[in-house]
Amino acid sequence: MRQRNKPWADDFIAEHADLIIPAPEKHRGKWKEIFGNDHPIHLEIGTGKGQFIAGMAEQHPDINFIGMELAKSVIVTAAEKVLAKEVPNVILLNNNAKDLRDFFAENEISGIYLNFSDPWPKSRHEKRRLTYRTFLEQYEDILIEGGTLVQKTDNRGLFEYSLVSYNQYGMLLEDVSLDLHVNEDPMNVKTEYEKKFSAKGQPIYRCQVSFQS
Ligand code: SAM
Repeated sequence: MRQRNKPWADDFIAEHADLIIPAPEKHRGKWKEIFGNDHPIHLEIGTGKGQFIAGMAEQHPDINFIGMELAKSVIVTAAEKVLAKEVPNVILLNNNAKDLRDFFAENEISGIYLNFSDPWPKSRHEKRRLTYRTFLEQYEDILIEGGTLVQKTDNRGLFEYSLVSYNQYGMLLEDVSLDLHVNEDPMNVKTEYEKKFSAKGQPIYRCQVSFQS
């Protein structure tokens, strides 16, 4: 994700503390209170500029969405998109997904999305890939039984790696597409990267997996 320096990002984040929630560890196990309802909570990791999460929130008013994004300069754009759509069922976290257990209790999340995650192609960076075993362990802890993980990517290397990682972890492969846009589902909400890569004619890979009980 291209990151331009935005000197105003810190102020923007502080001024929108009801949308970009500070100190998320304080809300661990209590996110329903923030949303003010009992709807299921879905988490997107690496939200980027927010097109997906804002679009999903609009499409699914009965689901609450949490978008986690590490980069300040990017999360402010996601926040602007959410504000423009006036969707009440989204919050954003400016945090690193390596610490998910600090932010979410067991069984607090019903669905996880990994959209166009950084591929980290060098083998010495394997542990940074969001589908590395230690990340899967965290996802298993915070997901409800039967909760799903949906991954989309243009990167064949990351996709193949992830399928092997899911399989080695004993996860259930529920659905897989090697070219998501061939029979395009009108309900598919595109991310910024998805739009960019599919416009270039690149296939988009998608899979839906779950943990076996
Ligand atoms: N999902 C968006 C899309 O499809 O357009 C953005 C994709 S971009 C390649 C990956 C994003 O994930 C970047 O904005 C990056 O800052 C964020 N990211 C990478 N590692 C992360 C982590 N450990 N925790 C939170 N965000 C992360």
